[in-house]
Amino acid sequence: MSHPVDDDCIFCKIVAGKIPCFKLLEDEHTIAFMDINPVNPGHALAVTKGHWPTADVIPTEALAATAATAQRVAKAIVRELKPDGFNLVQNNGPGAGQSVPHLHIHVLPRHKGDGATLNWTYKPGNKDEIAALCERLKKAL
Ligand code: 5GP
Ligand code: ZN
Repeated sequence: MSHPVDDDCIFCKIVAGKIPCFKLLEDEHTIAFMDINPVNPGHALAVTKGHWPTADVIPTEALAATAATAQRVAKAIVRELKPDGFNLVQNNGPGAGQSVPHLHIHVLPRHKGDGATLNWTYKPGNKDEIAALCERLKKAL
């Protein structure tokens, strides 16, 4: 499976290593890294390597690979951070709150009463805290 690229896309740039990320893992078809605007500590993204915007246009096997990566990250989050729960959230199109048109699945640790909503507003996280959580989760993968 070849991976289409959009040179203007922020996630394509991360996939290509042109801009940095707090990387959790990488395999043939996917990459997972920490969200820099975490809704809760440990908020991570499972991202397809190819530039396919949404779930209706991505090849089925690329979507399946991204789901498998999201599950792997979720297992690490459950083991290491012990949240009350987690959401897998995947937005398609601006009307659904998608801001980066390159398919990704949010792995969002949840805590009772945390007040998180489906379409949240971005708040930059503390880089040291994100890096420390990245290291913890990498060891838990
Ligand atoms: P969407 O709104 O498209 O479902 O989610 C996009 C996510 O990507 C947002 O949660 C946002 O914080 C995250 N994001 C946007 N730009 C960057 C970036 O440069 N690096 C990282 N790690 N995350 C990003
Ligand atoms: Zn892209």
